Amino acid sequence: MPLDEYRKKRDFTKSPEPAGAPAAAATGPERFFCVQKHLASHRHYDLRLEHDGVLLSWAVPKGPSLDWNDKRLAMQVEDHPVEYGSFEGVIPEGYGAGVVMLWDVGTWTMQSPDLDAALRKGDLKFRLDGYKLKGSWALVRTRGYGDSSKPSWLLIKHKDEWSGPLDITTFAPLSVKTPGADFADILAGETPDLWRRNPPAKTGDTGKLFQRIIAAALERRAEAPAAPLADLPAVPQADLPASRPARPKTKRR
Ligand code: MN
Repeated sequence: MPLDEYRKKRDFTKSPEPAGAPAAAATGPERFFCVQKHLASHRHYDLRLEHDGVLLSWAVPKGPSLDWNDKRLAMQVEDHPVEYGSFEGVIPEGYGAGVVMLWDVGTWTMQSPDLDAALRKGDLKFRLDGYKLKGSWALVRTRGYGDSSKPSWLLIKHKDEWSGPLDITTFAPLSVKTPGADFADILAGETPDLWRRNPPAKTGDTGKLFQRIIAAALERRAEAPAAPLADLPAVPQADLPASRPARPKTKRR
């Protein structure tokens, strides 16, 4: 069944990720795509292309590159529900624990005539029209490493007017869903002290990154405390009308 693997890996009583269901297959040439920047046990970028009611997904450790000389390792992972394409937030524990940022979003168009045949062959050509990624791209399956459950591909930018030496992950590092938000803002908006003792990664560069982000999230939360709910005037439930009464119309002069 589609999405079985996605569901088996997650406990939706603990994760805010959508449980999702296979959606109707999109009709027409333009389909949804997104890239989520995911700080978990390792930082990576998840490229997702809508196909047949799910999001085909690849984890790209270094993220996409606009330089046509770069071949970025892209490990195919389990299909995700289409609703996942708008997800941004904090996964407190379990599979993928960490912070997810919606880093790019838009439409994709296949350039291979038959997508299923291209996937079987391991050679997929497509165009992206996102905020950050545009133009022609290829995903090419590699031989020799990866296994059947996680086949390895290479993500390559074709040479066109959207390719070049600009390091897009450094140039445009922030969220497209919450304008201007970085990982620390996303964490600060939810549960900044969640991982004070036990972050999803403790050692190496990712461990250091978590420490920096947790510290920044706590600081930003301290600067802009959320309005305490107790200060809001209580509204007696019985006084609430079942539906909002029509507002008396004022005559225009
Ligand atoms: Mn991921």
